[in-house]
Amino acid sequence: MSTTGFNSQNGAGGQPYTNGPSQNPVALQPPGPGYNMAHQPPYSPMQAKGPMPSGPGLYNSGPYQPPLGQPMLHRPPTGPPQSMTPPQSASPGPRMPPAQCTPPPAVSANSYYQHPPAWQYGATPPLSGPPRAPGANHVTSSPSPAPPQLPVGYGAGPQAVHNALQPLGPNTGLHGYTQPGSAPPPMNTMAPPPQSYQPGMRAPPPMGPTPPPLGHATPPPPLAPKTDAHTHPPGNGAQVPNRFDHLETGHGMAGPPQQPGPPARQVGHSYPALPPGYQSTSAPPNASPMHHPMQPPTQHYSHGPQPYQQPAAGPAQLSPSLAGLSLQSQSPEALRVVNLLQERNLLPPGPVTPPTPCLPQDLQKLNCHPEVFRSTLTSIPQTQSLLNKAKLPLGLLLHPFKDLSQLPVVTSSTIVRCRTCRTYINPFVNFLDQRRWKCNLCFRVNDVPEEFMYNPVSRSYGEPHKRPEVQNATIEFIAPSEYMLRPPQPAVYLFVLDVSHNAVETGYLDVVCQSLLDNLSALPGDSRTKMGFITFDSTIHFYNLQEGLSQPQMLIVSDIEDIFLPTPDSLLVNLNECKELVQDLLKSLPQMFGKTMETQSALGPALQAAFKLLSPTGGRVSVFQTQLPNLGVGSLKSREDPNQRASAKDVQHLSPATDFYKKLALDCSGQQVAVDLFLLSSQYCDLASLGCISRYSAGSVYYYPSYHQQHNPAQVDCFQKDLKRYLTRKIGFEAVMRIRCTKGLSIHTFHGNLFVRSTDLLSLPNVNPDAGFAVQMSIEENLVDMQVVSFQAALLYTSSKGERRIRVHTLCLPVVNSLSDIFAGADVQAITGLLASMAVDRSVTASLSDARDAMTNAAIDSLTSYRTSVLTIQQPGLLAPACLRLFPLYILALLKQKAFRTGTSTRLDDRVFAMCQLKYQPLAYVMLMVHPALYRVDDLTDEGALNISERTVPQPRVLQLTVEKLSREGAFLMDAGSVMYLWIGRNCNPNFLTQVLGVSNYAAVPQNMNVLPELDTAESQRTRAFIGWLRDQRPFRPVLHVIRDESPLKASFMQSMIEDRTESALSYYEFLLHIQQQVSK
Ligand SMILES: [Zn+2]
Repeated sequence: MSTTGFNSQNGAGGQPYTNGPSQNPVALQPPGPGYNMAHQPPYSPMQAKGPMPSGPGLYNSGPYQPPLGQPMLHRPPTGPPQSMTPPQSASPGPRMPPAQCTPPPAVSANSYYQHPPAWQYGATPPLSGPPRAPGANHVTSSPSPAPPQLPVGYGAGPQAVHNALQPLGPNTGLHGYTQPGSAPPPMNTMAPPPQSYQPGMRAPPPMGPTPPPLGHATPPPPLAPKTDAHTHPPGNGAQVPNRFDHLETGHGMAGPPQQPGPPARQVGHSYPALPPGYQSTSAPPNASPMHHPMQPPTQHYSHGPQPYQQPAAGPAQLSPSLAGLSLQSQSPEALRVVNLLQERNLLPPGPVTPPTPCLPQDLQKLNCHPEVFRSTLTSIPQTQSLLNKAKLPLGLLLHPFKDLSQLPVVTSSTIVRCRTCRTYINPFVNFLDQRRWKCNLCFRVNDVPEEFMYNPVSRSYGEPHKRPEVQNATIEFIAPSEYMLRPPQPAVYLFVLDVSHNAVETGYLDVVCQSLLDNLSALPGDSRTKMGFITFDSTIHFYNLQEGLSQPQMLIVSDIEDIFLPTPDSLLVNLNECKELVQDLLKSLPQMFGKTMETQSALGPALQAAFKLLSPTGGRVSVFQTQLPNLGVGSLKSREDPNQRASAKDVQHLSPATDFYKKLALDCSGQQVAVDLFLLSSQYCDLASLGCISRYSAGSVYYYPSYHQQHNPAQVDCFQKDLKRYLTRKIGFEAVMRIRCTKGLSIHTFHGNLFVRSTDLLSLPNVNPDAGFAVQMSIEENLVDMQVVSFQAALLYTSSKGERRIRVHTLCLPVVNSLSDIFAGADVQAITGLLASMAVDRSVTASLSDARDAMTNAAIDSLTSYRTSVLTIQQPGLLAPACLRLFPLYILALLKQKAFRTGTSTRLDDRVFAMCQLKYQPLAYVMLMVHPALYRVDDLTDEGALNISERTVPQPRVLQLTVEKLSREGAFLMDAGSVMYLWIGRNCNPNFLTQVLGVSNYAAVPQNMNVLPELDTAESQRTRAFIGWLRDQRPFRPVLHVIRDESPLKASFMQSMIEDRTESALSYYEFLLHIQQQVSK
């Protein structure tokens, strides 16, 4: 097996679905070309449309110098197009096709494009077959590292695994059913339900005020032979430590179909033949007073038992969901026609909320939360040709490992999955009766295992549809041992630190060491946690931290051409046992290199050493680098021409200069090692090359330009806060994620830091709660018989406590067959996020200007489609459905974003970093980065304020990003996600200066103010409450800059005023005119 082509995904090539009932009589269609009208030639990225004019020179206006408070740009009169339109270019403009052209590429390494991009992994390691020797590509002559000494309980087989699980009690799963102190039942043994859930041994989470007596909770003995649907033969233990594919497989367990039923037209839990006990509990379909409006799916356990809306019996009531579906019509507001040239302020007063899928309420209330899993189109087109007509990209955005305050966790010996496609049972399957359920992805009819008949929440029997697995779209399983190929790895942390003269000069080492000392006990892990350190300059330094030594022992390896581990067994040590030595080292490290004059940097060899050290276990490497590596393998040369930073021409060197980092990352990925890169530099470091080490190993990239302990305190502050979050946040090891979707849909092209191991399986050696992913989709078979389709993301990982866990998210969306319904369900933020990821790829594989044109054309094409195919009454202006009214604004914001802007001085590393962020940040943070939120804060009041834990949080409205909204008399807060600016007007209200900033006048505002003083004034409390509330909405702590006119950061603040014209870019209004002209063609 290799990274096979997309065309075999989800059974289109006949693989997983061969046994399932055929849902669609329609012949298999080739993957449709993206964005194409059905009968047009493939959607060419070079279709004719004028590229956006690039500068104000075209508009014969002077340079942009808006005096604050007196903006020079006056809003042009609204109405029909006028003479101030961009000149048209005959040159064809590229498009951003969202869907796959035919044929799909044969290799799926993160690229959409048909021609392999330059950075595409050319030397794909064997994805199957015998496991590779560790580091085979790089380490040829050094002795293999000896396996580390395993602590008790590690590496001793399944029994040891169970033991390791024992101490984990209720604390590990917030609402888990984990039975502390009791091992899971032995594998492949028929476990009667009481043993599976151990209902009487320890109270499960309080699910109701009066749990039934134990006797009642004991289900009758199994009535039917247990299906073996869930069982795998156990893996080969440590023999094949790195191939988790088949654990989360879609192929391994296919069996003959039991009951190839007709195509499903029902959704939800209907019982055609209900047992007598059910019939007395019928309730009116659709209308249930117990049904809440949509709530986060993870809250179901917080209020005790949620009365389940019992599906009613009777022919007319078999499918309440269906009946509901016909009643639901698209929201009229979403399709309200908006003339963008006339409606000035399109921003809602608060955050932009995602659209709610048009589903019956009983399904929608179970649906996955959009912060975790959402689609660009909340109504899925029935056919690819319909999708092509809409000219909107189809894809999913995921935040699969997001920190959740409420997460149902299930411990069960039986994880119920479809026998054909391995989908996990979920709220959107169909129960044919008590004993059978129909898969909502492949439509196979499966048996309900005996254990599943018992509901641990209600402690009742015979209600499989009330099980937590069927009541929660987001759920986590503690996996039994068949989900392990080897004992779960311990938490392993290796720090690789640049100690060259340049590095020491920045002072970063003090921060890292102090932060580690402060958080050593807060690192996720358990008694098996291991830690190690490598430092490097022109040589590589290892640290022997073996228990018993009186102090850490430094071992220097100067042969960087042939890296070996001097004492393989004592470099990575048990943190608990060797904590004092680790602390000693952290205390002395900053001084050890204080006087170094060594300027060279052998980063590549240091990474090779890290890979060797972690290969036997897997784990996390944290690399801190402060300069361009210039010694040994992976050396780089500066490629940036500072004179070209402001060029309006295409940007060069966005792709890596060497494939060394990518190859090493893939070796790491194969050994379950992820590399996180912290780049702290004042000079060009070639992030385009270095970033590959994290990108393909599923690591993270952090970048602190101009980092310096003395000269840049704001960066130091930011670095410290990031480090704290980084060190203490949740982490999942040796993870894989698979995304499945209903037959007929096809997933291709993944975005994020990952490696695509097979068509739909992502290799994630580490997964962290701040990582986002996106995928593009196409419709391979018409979905004509379906009312709804589903998507399921399953993330299999090892927790820092050594548990194997599976987090499953399932999203259900309606299928529609009209263009207006597609438009009505468009999620403008998700579309923007997906387009941004696609544009990053396009910038690298084609060119920046190509990507910019493609983004502009995405707006033009979709609005053209809306105008010509949806609008029945033509009217003048630039018309958009209300749900897409922000689309041109967001596209313009992307064009002015650091990643894609031209004509504004942008350092190459800054640009590349912005591109990285667009690709791997969750959508919520991407949107703040693209279109920051602006608030006026000098006049905060309690009117409309929220009251959160006895704090009054003012809610100022979100302002448009234009200097027209600023005033010299005010103070304005801009929230850009990872950074906040508090801009103080020159004539700012003196009350604000004294009561909030604690200064007597404007001139006294300090240059480097990053903290608001805690003053005992109402104004101070309101301001701090508001900023604190914003910060609390994200897991990391954004840095705050208080700026005034003289501040160097004022430029960054002003550059975010994206509605305004700049010297090199159009104003929002000009951009609208340009789009209008193209749409009207
Ligand atoms: Zn299935």
